[in-house]
Amino acid sequence: MTQTYTPMMQQYLEIKRQYPDAFLFFRLGDFYELFFEDAIKASRELEITLTGKNAGVEEKVPMCGVPYHAAEGYIADLVQKGYKVAVCEQVEDPKEAKGVVRREVVRVVTPGTMIESRFLTDKENNYMTAIAHVDGKDAVAACDMSTGEMYVTSFFGRSQAVMEEALQYRPSELLFYEQKDTRGIATDVPLTVIMAGDFDQLAVNQQYGEQAETLNSAMRTAINCLLHYIGLTQKRSLSHMRVLKQYEAREYLQMDGFSRRNLELTETIRDKSKKGSLLWLLDKTETAMGGRMLRRWIERPLLNQSEIEKRLEALEAFKGDLLLRSDVRESLDKVYDLERLAGRIAYGNANGRDMVNMRHSLEAIPHLKYQLIASGSPILAELAEIMDECSDIADFLSETLVDEPPISVREGGLIRQGYDDYLDKLRVASREGKTWIAQLEQAEREATGIRSLKVGFNKVFGYYIEISKANLANIPPGRYERKQTLANAERFITPDLKEKESLILEAEEKMVELEYQLFVQVRNEVAKHIPRLQLLAEQVANIDVLQSFATVSEERGYVRPQFTTDGEFVVREGRHAVVEAVLDREKYVANDVEMNQKDRQILLITGPNMAGKSTYMRQMALMSVMAQIGCYVPAKEARLSLIDQIFTRIGAADDLVGGYSTFMVEMLETKNALTKATSRSLILLDEIGRGTSTYDGMALAQAVIEYINEHIGAKTLFSTHYHELTHLQEHIPGVVNVNARCEERDGKLLFLHKIAEGRADKSYGIHVAELAEMPKQVILRARQILQGLESEQKTPAKGEQLSLDMLWDAPEPEPLMVAEAAAAAYPAQAQEPIVIKDPTEEEILEELRRLDLNMTTPLHALMKLSEWKQRLS
Ligand code: ADP
Ligand code: MG
Repeated sequence: MTQTYTPMMQQYLEIKRQYPDAFLFFRLGDFYELFFEDAIKASRELEITLTGKNAGVEEKVPMCGVPYHAAEGYIADLVQKGYKVAVCEQVEDPKEAKGVVRREVVRVVTPGTMIESRFLTDKENNYMTAIAHVDGKDAVAACDMSTGEMYVTSFFGRSQAVMEEALQYRPSELLFYEQKDTRGIATDVPLTVIMAGDFDQLAVNQQYGEQAETLNSAMRTAINCLLHYIGLTQKRSLSHMRVLKQYEAREYLQMDGFSRRNLELTETIRDKSKKGSLLWLLDKTETAMGGRMLRRWIERPLLNQSEIEKRLEALEAFKGDLLLRSDVRESLDKVYDLERLAGRIAYGNANGRDMVNMRHSLEAIPHLKYQLIASGSPILAELAEIMDECSDIADFLSETLVDEPPISVREGGLIRQGYDDYLDKLRVASREGKTWIAQLEQAEREATGIRSLKVGFNKVFGYYIEISKANLANIPPGRYERKQTLANAERFITPDLKEKESLILEAEEKMVELEYQLFVQVRNEVAKHIPRLQLLAEQVANIDVLQSFATVSEERGYVRPQFTTDGEFVVREGRHAVVEAVLDREKYVANDVEMNQKDRQILLITGPNMAGKSTYMRQMALMSVMAQIGCYVPAKEARLSLIDQIFTRIGAADDLVGGYSTFMVEMLETKNALTKATSRSLILLDEIGRGTSTYDGMALAQAVIEYINEHIGAKTLFSTHYHELTHLQEHIPGVVNVNARCEERDGKLLFLHKIAEGRADKSYGIHVAELAEMPKQVILRARQILQGLESEQKTPAKGEQLSLDMLWDAPEPEPLMVAEAAAAAYPAQAQEPIVIKDPTEEEILEELRRLDLNMTTPLHALMKLSEWKQRLS
C-alpha cells in the first residue's frame, strides 16, 4: 500500500517548495508550525521543543511550533541570525472552508526588509544593496525599506570599487544580478541571486517615473533587483519609496573599507563599538533621522567646496548663538522619527500612537521654523523657509484622532468626537444605555426595598440583577425573570434590561468596526502625502546635524577650516579629535602640520614606538574628513586643501584589524594607493615594510617614496623606524624629516608627543622594552651590548652613508646573519657575561662586534665566516 501525506501536509509541501531558503511559519489555528528540516533547525535555533506529527505516512513528521501571539519575537530572533522567515496564514475562515483551509504566504521577513521599529536601531539605516553588471558597467543600488530611501550609482567595467561601495552601506542583505558564483564573496550577510527572467524590466519606471529616465541599464537592473525582491517578500505597496538619489562616487571623498576602519569613523577597531569613533564624538543629534544623516555624512565627506562652505556657514550661525541652539535642540527633541513613521504609514502598519507621534512631530515644526528665521542668520532662514510645515496634515490628524489612542487599532478608542456623525450617534446610544443601567441599580433598590440588590455584567449572560437568597422573598411577584442560580444568590433580567443591553453591545460592536475603518481611512489619507513628509524629515535631519556639529565645535573649541587652492595644508596646534576627547583636553599635546606641493609633500616621521607617530598621521586624515563633512576642526588654525581620496596602510606588524596581517596584503594595499592616488590625495603609510627583512623593507619603502614623489605628488605621511631612510630628505626635494620627540630623564624615556622638524636621534628601542617591564637582566645586557656596538662603530665617511641603491643589488637573506650576530652577542640563558680566555676567540669576537652589518653583503659575510672558522680550527 503506498502512503500519501494528508491533504494539509501536501498543502504545506507545495508552499514550502516556493520558499526553499526560508523558514516556513505555517499557521495552524493558534500556532505557527514548522515541519521537517525547518522544524529540526528552528528547534535548535529558538530552543523550542521538537515533536512529531502524524501526517498520513508511517513515520511522524518532525514538528515544532510557536503561539501566534508570540511569533513576532521568534521571527525577529531568526532574522537577526541572518535567516529568512516566510509567514503563511490561513486566508479563509476555517468555518466556511470546504476541505483544507486555504493558506498563503503573506510576507517573507528578511534582515534587509525588517521594518518593525523595535528591531531596528534608531540612528542606523537598515540597507539592502544590489549589485548588477550590465553592458560593461557595474552598478550598486541601496535601499532602506524603513525610511523609503533609494540610492544608485555606477562604475565603468568590473571593479573592486563596486563591492567596496556596496559594503560601505553595511547592508544587512546583498542581492546579485545573475552572479553565478557567490562563494568567494567575503561577507557574512545573506546573499540572494536574482535572474534576468525574475523581474519586470519596467518596474523601475513604474516606481520612479521620470526619475528613472537618466539611469543606465546597470543602474536600472540593480534597482529592479531590489524592487523585485521587496515585492516578493512584502507583497504590499511600496508607495513610500518614491525618491531616487543618483550619485557619482567621485563626488565624494573616497576611502576604502580599510581606511574607514583604520580611521575609526563610525566604529572602533577593537570592539566595533560606536563609542570611541568619530561618529560618537560628533553625535549630538536630537532626532533619529538626524543621527542617520550624520552617519551618512561621515561616510561620505564632500569634495565640492561651496557645498562644504554652506554647511560651515550654518554651523557658524548656530555656534555663535547658544540660546538659539538650545531652543532649536528643544524643538527637535519633540520630533519623532518622521522617516520611519512615514514608512509605517505607507506600509499600513502604523498604529494610533504612531499617528499621534506624527502629529506631535509636525506641530513642533512651525516653532522650529520661527526660531531659525528669527535667528537673523540668512543661511538658517533659507534652510527654514524651504520647509513645508505640513500643518494641513497635523490639523487633519488632530481633528480625527484622540490624543491618547490605545496600541491596538482593533479595539476602538481612536477617533475623536465630532469627526464622524454616525460614530458619535453610536457613542451616544452606548453611553445612554450605560447611564440607564447605572441608574437601574438605585431605582430597583428603591422599588423593591432590597438594599443589597446589585446590577452586574458577565460575558455569558450579559447584564443581570443579582439578589441574595435571603432577600428572594422580598421581590414583587412578576417583576423579574430568573436567569441563573448561584450558591447564595439568584440572577434576574427584565425585558427592558435586555433591550438596553443589546443596544449597547450592538453599538459597541459597530463602533469598534467603524473606528477601525475610519482609522485606516485617515492613515491612507496621510499616506498620500508621504513625499512631503519625507522631504520635511530630510530638512529637519539637516538642521539637526548642523546644530550637532555646532554644539561639539563649541564645546571642544574647534575652528572653521579654510580651504586653499595651491595645495597648501597647514594646521596650527591640531589635535586628534577622538584621542583628545578620550584623554581629556589638557593631556593632549597639540601638533602642527605643514605641507605643500613644492618642498613639503612627503613627511617622513621617525621616532620610537609609542611616541605618537600613528596618532599624528590619523589626526591629519581625520581633520580632512571633519572639514569635508562641513564640521569645524580641532586646531587653532587650519588651512587645508581639499582631499579627493584617503589611503591608509598600516604595516603588517602594527595591523590591529584582524585578518589583514600579512605582508602580501600590506603590499596589495600599497599598490592600491599607488595606482589610484592623485596629487589631491592623502596617503598614510604607517611603518610599511616591517613584515619582511630589514633591507627588503627599507628598499621597498624608499622606492615607494620615490614613486609617490615622482609620479603622483600626493600628500604623504610616512612613518618609519628605519632611521636610514631619513637621508632621503637630501635626495628628494619634496621629502622632509620630522620626528616624534622624546626625552631621556634619569635614564627613563619620556614621550613628548610633539612632532618636531628633523630626524629622531636614536630609536630608544631598549627604553620601550623597559617600559614594557622586560626582565631587568635583559635590559641591562641590551644596554651593555648597545654601548659596545655604538662606541666601536666606525662613522661612515660622507658619500659612504648607507646607500640603498647599493643594497638593492645585494642578494637575499641578511636577516639570518643579523640573528646569528645577535645570538653570539647574547647567548641564550646567559646569567653572567661569558668570560672568554682563548685570544683567537676574543679577537674574532672583537671583529664580529666591529662588523657593520649595514655595510656587509652576504658574500662578504660568508667569506668572513669561513675565515673565522679556519682560524678557530
Ligand atoms: P606610535 O605610532 O609612534 O607607536 P601612537 O601614535 O600609537 O605611537 O601613540 C601611542 C600613544 O600615545 C597613543 O595611544 C596615545 O594615547 C598617546 N598619544 C599619541 N599622540 C599624543 C598626543 N599628541 N598627545 C597626547 N598623547 C598622545
Ligand atoms: Mg604606530
